[in-house]
Amino acid sequence: MHKHAEIPLFVEIRDGAIETVPLIVDGLKAESAIMLSGKTSFDIAGKVVKERTKLKSIYILEKPKDEVRKLIAKLSYGDVDCVIAVGGGRIIDSGKILASELNVPLVTVPTTASHDGMASPVASFRDGEAFSVFTRPPSAVVADTSIISKCPIRLIRAGFGDLISNITAVKDWKLAKEIDPTDYSEVAASIASMPAEIALERAPSIEELVRGLVMSGVAMSIAGSSRPASGAEHKFSHSLDIMGVGHALHGEQVGIGTIIMEYFHEMAYGGDWVKVKEAMERFGCTTKLKDVGIPREDALLALMNAKKIRPSRYTILDAVNPDKSDFEKALDVTGV
Ligand SMILES: [Zn+2]
Repeated sequence: MHKHAEIPLFVEIRDGAIETVPLIVDGLKAESAIMLSGKTSFDIAGKVVKERTKLKSIYILEKPKDEVRKLIAKLSYGDVDCVIAVGGGRIIDSGKILASELNVPLVTVPTTASHDGMASPVASFRDGEAFSVFTRPPSAVVADTSIISKCPIRLIRAGFGDLISNITAVKDWKLAKEIDPTDYSEVAASIASMPAEIALERAPSIEELVRGLVMSGVAMSIAGSSRPASGAEHKFSHSLDIMGVGHALHGEQVGIGTIIMEYFHEMAYGGDWVKVKEAMERFGCTTKLKDVGIPREDALLALMNAKKIRPSRYTILDAVNPDKSDFEKALDVTGV
């Protein structure tokens, strides 16, 4: 467990929040801020930031993962004192890596809400070899709900899946606490699980969903790891990523994974996988693997391999140790 946490202190979630970017840049005493954006996100939001904020330069990234390496080399000896990342997950993750390398504050302006990366201290890339790195969290998050609400609905629904996954992630963390109490933070667990519990009861508004995803990120910063928002359901998702099957978004995979892992929690300790599934259906999320191109045999293989992903992270899969027939039964019973 670490003793101090850096968390985003400027968080603005509302219609028209983008207007506050210049104020935040001023507040950070940034004189040579640079902006990263994507092609589409520049048209949607980057342009507005450009018009209203004094920027040193603007970089429109097409292949963020590759281009950010070059930018680190190029800007290391420059006088950049703030990075503003305007876009979806990959642009924001690139911003995290760049700002961490340059040791300057990051302002994120998400244009989607497909996962909990907008405020988190974790950057992950799924294209090619999947990897994730722990970075400093953003200093400020400006989530303009009038912009986010215009992104494809599928992305919003995926964001719901990533939020609901905190249910099983926190349950797994509590199981791990029995083995290593020093790795657990009640504050981080509460911050991560509360918005997910609310989402189980009723469909959240876009603003509530974004707030929940921001809270997930803050919980990760407090925990000093992705623990409060990543348990066995995320191992299942990473397992699928490694296999490279299907065309599901991260949030879709972890959402379905949450139903499966909640089933095992319910069997062993208590839970309600039906409630998780119903909440997802209420929000319009897919709960069927075949809808996202994942054949049952591949899902089964991913489940059996999931435990081997980051084995030091104890989850329900270690506690229950399901075998092939248990996984088959879980898939049959939950109907995912
Ligand atoms: Zn996630």
